[in-house]
Amino acid sequence: MYKCSFCGRPQNKVNILIRGRKGNICESCVADANITLKQDAEMTDPDVKDLKLIKPKKIKEFLDKYVIGQEDAKKVISVAVYNHYKRLLNKEFKSEIEIDKSNVILVGATGTGKTLIAKTIAKMLQVPFAIIDATVLTEAGYVGEDVESLLSRLLQAADYDAKKTETGIVFIDELDKIARKGDNPSITRDVSGEGVQQGLLKLLEGSVVGVPPQGGRKHPEQKLVNIDTSNILFICGGAFTNIEKIIAKRLNTQVVGFKAIKDANKLDKENMLQYITPQDLRSFGLIPEIVGRIPAITYLQPLDHDALKRILTEPQNAIIKQYKKLMEMDGIKLIFEDDVFDYIVGKAIDFKVGARGLRSICETIMVEAMYEMNTDTKNRIYISLEYAKDKVEVLHSKRLKVA
Ligand code: ADP
Repeated sequence: MYKCSFCGRPQNKVNILIRGRKGNICESCVADANITLKQDAEMTDPDVKDLKLIKPKKIKEFLDKYVIGQEDAKKVISVAVYNHYKRLLNKEFKSEIEIDKSNVILVGATGTGKTLIAKTIAKMLQVPFAIIDATVLTEAGYVGEDVESLLSRLLQAADYDAKKTETGIVFIDELDKIARKGDNPSITRDVSGEGVQQGLLKLLEGSVVGVPPQGGRKHPEQKLVNIDTSNILFICGGAFTNIEKIIAKRLNTQVVGFKAIKDANKLDKENMLQYITPQDLRSFGLIPEIVGRIPAITYLQPLDHDALKRILTEPQNAIIKQYKKLMEMDGIKLIFEDDVFDYIVGKAIDFKVGARGLRSICETIMVEAMYEMNTDTKNRIYISLEYAKDKVEVLHSKRLKVA
């Protein structure tokens, strides 16, 4: 009589015996094996808490694959994310010492990688992620979105699972746009800006809010879902245009006495953002309570020629790699003359479009080649500097004529 090779029970003592060439297995051993497999899968599932506790260095290594430069910002955010998840774990263990939330603010010109950093972090942690524009916010009663409805997008990203939503990441872009205008609240008080900030504060500090699942205020009949925001990580971003002047002013007024003057000479005047402090954000017009709720402040540097060139070719999903992949799928090898990259970057700088404009310049160069490639029998496409120049300059002159 056949027996299960795992538990040894004979065929007549089991319901099903699956027979293999060199052994057999009964249904209960299959079930046990299934549990083992599931447990193993959970261990390697990135959703599991342990894996979220990735050390800051590992988080930064992951960011390095996608985000070029911005070393300080990547470090600050890696530590903030690490502490955030440590804090969650601490809560789980019901420790007596409560760790404060470590929301982050990224200050830097548009197109320097703020959204990219936030997105990449969410990708790594595999948590729900939503990008929200602070400019759509208004105070209750006005046209625009309520602060609560900001979380609708996160709820949607979490497939309407409230528990999952509560561990998500929200990127609030253009936070500077809701700043109070001017430093002195009693003279140039921008009431609406301050009201919106008060609303936002509720989310940042952690409270239970009623979120309309469909967002907006157009469906007043929809049932609200209660979301506790205390474990949601908020990453704020903004260009804070001209904040350098505020920083410089603060640093200058601090310059009293001989030692300070010596220090002032050491300042890197080209990149004042690196000296940003919470005080500068307050002077810019964020209310102190908001500043207090975003303890991790960091900055992004403007992207120079070198950085743009690296962005074009180096990240895991760099634009050039994408074109190569697209061609490769048609069995075509795409080759660029070296100078083409410098030319593309030079144009992006000329047109003042930064990293965001790199793709459209590449598209201008590549579109004809991609259109023709299926009719050609070639298995290799070479983009020379001359070809690239021709495509960009012809298009540019056409556009100039139209304008
Ligand atoms: P921001 O949020 O600062 O306005 P984004 O993160 O949206 O800018 O950047 C726009 C695009 O430019 C990104 O999608 C990315 O392709 C590219 N980019 C910008 N900065 C970087 C960077 N430091 N490394 C890699 N790509 C970048």
